[in-house]
Amino acid sequence: MKLPFFLARRFVAGETLTKALPAVRALRADGLLVTLDLLGEDVRDRARAVRYADEYIGILRTLAEEDSELPPNISIKLSMIGQRIDRAFCVANLRRVLGAAHDFGAFVRLDMEGSDLTASTLGIFEEVYPDYPDNVGVVLQAYLRRTEADVTRMCELDARVRLCKGAYKEPPETAYQDMPTIRENFERQMQRLVADARYPGIATHDDTLIAATKAFVRDNGIAPDAFEFQMLYGIRPDTQRELVREGYNVRVYIPYGTQWGPYFTRRLRERKENVWFVLKNLFRR
Ligand SMILES: Cc1cc2nc3c(=O)[nH]c(=O)nc-3n(C[C@H](O)[C@H](O)[C@H](O)COP(=O)(O)OP(=O)(O)OC[C@H]3O[C@@H](n4cnc5c(N)ncnc54)[C@H](O)[C@@H]3O)c2cc1C
Repeated sequence: MKLPFFLARRFVAGETLTKALPAVRALRADGLLVTLDLLGEDVRDRARAVRYADEYIGILRTLAEEDSELPPNISIKLSMIGQRIDRAFCVANLRRVLGAAHDFGAFVRLDMEGSDLTASTLGIFEEVYPDYPDNVGVVLQAYLRRTEADVTRMCELDARVRLCKGAYKEPPETAYQDMPTIRENFERQMQRLVADARYPGIATHDDTLIAATKAFVRDNGIAPDAFEFQMLYGIRPDTQRELVREGYNVRVYIPYGTQWGPYFTRRLRERKENVWFVLKNLFRR
């Protein structure tokens, strides 16, 4: 059974790109940067994977037309363009998207999914990165035990990394399970990325980690525009704007599309306050 869209509208900007654009404009007007995410995952059909790659290129074109001052920025999932079908097919689709990104002066972030796809995603990233060093970046998840080594590698490559906690259910042998350890690892990897990697994205709504990032850059004389904070659409909008007022770059991740179910479920699972927002929406229709 498909739930009605109004339930998700706090976290998802619309079911189509046209419907999501007003959210993009409103955030831009408040000085925020944006990245657009066409929702969906785990495509098993080649024709659909090709269509998603075409759609990604279409989003880049629309963003370029919307705002000539800001490089278009999208977040994509390799599993939507063939990662689970065939590696070479996925790389060919990705190269098409990155070719367009290069032409538009755009940036494409490869979102990180479950740990069964981590090695494959990083491998594909390393394959295309030398050809598009300014147009593609990855995501590393602080809950994964392997992330320390992956940060080392991304610093060597001078790659652009988004650091987040990680949103999928993972087994203890793969991922830290308790929040204090995840936070500790996030803070350590944040410091390494901010000090040594190219323009990292520090993606969290967690006050402790936001404060730790601010303190680290201040104490080490790192310019506030050497990195950006990143947050999700609909989560802590006041904090997003406050950080902009304080002089930090803040990028908001804007999901849209009809396939919003799994993304919406991850947000609800994460925090009971998010369930509360949805319930309040029910009565505000
Ligand atoms: C831009 C962006 C991109 C992401 N990309 C990926 C990805 O590619 N792969 C992936 O696995 N995950 C991704 N994530 C999700 C991420 O891994 C976490 O699941 C998610 O961000 C929750 O962790 P958190 O640190 O933000 O806060 P949480 O761990 O949810 O909360 C920690 C603390 O933050 C504060 N807080 C959080 N939410 C609120 C709120 N609504 N109101 C008030 N206080 C709040 C509270 O102090 C809370 O105790 C992304 C997240 C962001 C922001």
